[in-house]
Amino acid sequence: MTGCIFCRIVKGEIPGQIVYKNAKVTAFRDINPKAPIHILIVPNEHVDPKEDLKPENVAVMADIFLAAKEVAKLENIDERGFRLLINVGADAGQEVDHLHMHLFGGKRLGPMVCE
Ligand code: 5GP
Ligand code: ZN
Repeated sequence: MTGCIFCRIVKGEIPGQIVYKNAKVTAFRDINPKAPIHILIVPNEHVDPKEDLKPENVAVMADIFLAAKEVAKLENIDERGFRLLINVGADAGQEVDHLHMHLFGGKRLGPMVCE
């Protein structure tokens, strides 16, 4: 999608600290990390979580979960544990329309949700 920042990172048009890539998924470090390890896992095709989480896209969801496991292994946090999070819509504070799973780790992450 034209102008989508994550599409542009996937295509290499703008720099991203890519930690993992396969035919379906790209994972790169968040520009404003909220934990020692904070990686965004995105489908290579533009998927809007508000519009496109439909049965025909179920493979995309599986792809990002499986990639998250690979990223956790690469970062050596698969045994210690990590948190996966997807923001959808305004109340969640979603900033970027391209589906992205946050992977947080590298410390005890504390309670799950905000106050
Ligand atoms: P959201 O709030 O939509 O779930 O998360 C968007 C995330 O994308 C934020 O954590 C933000 O720091 C990150 N982000 C925004 N722009 C860029 C960018 O250009 N590069 C990278 N690596 N991360 C970005
Ligand atoms: Zn996109």
